[in-house]
Amino acid sequence: RFITLEGGEGVGKSTNLQFIKQFLEERGIPFVLTREPGGTGIAEKIRGILLERQQESLTEQAELLLVFAARAQHIQQVILPALQQGQWVVCDRFTDATYAYQGGGRHMDLQTIAWLENTVQGTLRPDLTFVFDAPIEIGMQRAKHRGELDRFETEQLAFFDRVRQAYLQRAATDLRRYKIIDASLPLSEVQQQLRLELADLWAD
Ligand code: C5P
Repeated sequence: RFITLEGGEGVGKSTNLQFIKQFLEERGIPFVLTREPGGTGIAEKIRGILLERQQESLTEQAELLLVFAARAQHIQQVILPALQQGQWVVCDRFTDATYAYQGGGRHMDLQTIAWLENTVQGTLRPDLTFVFDAPIEIGMQRAKHRGELDRFETEQLAFFDRVRQAYLQRAATDLRRYKIIDASLPLSEVQQQLRLELADLWAD
């Protein structure tokens, strides 16, 4: 089973990741928890380059290729071996983030992204993708409290709105795989939804 968590800034992805971890532990389900960009030594180095984007004046095309370079490492070294051993893989962001950030946010060509996806992943796709969704104002407020304001000062509100819309559009294409979670609801309600979806997947 391959589960991914997606969403914009400050939508509670990390908190809910811990909840999912606890769900799996309580049931004795073997799993690997990982993240993108990152998840291996080389991929984490690439993450460093990506997150320093502002200072490094990385081009958009280089950014897209680096995201997939990191993903190629991550898939071969972590995701596929774990799935082959029968472990569940829970990944904080995956290719939907590329469609949302590089595609929606930075206007990179979606067909190019799809070509890279097919080339790097073959048929590998998540079984279940949680899309945490909240109005960008809410996410930004929460992120401000965490002291992540600097990132937002350099990015435009419009960028985050494009990211959000891109996630929602993708989710709408396959509501069996994508579960849109209203992240503006109280945490207990969000986690009740997660519990139901995870239990469904477990029973499958
Ligand atoms: O999930 P997390 O918030 O740690 O992701 C770090 C940042 O990486 C995000 O805020 C996003 O701006 C960026 N990112 C990106 N393109 C991706 C994945 C993440 O720009 N494909």
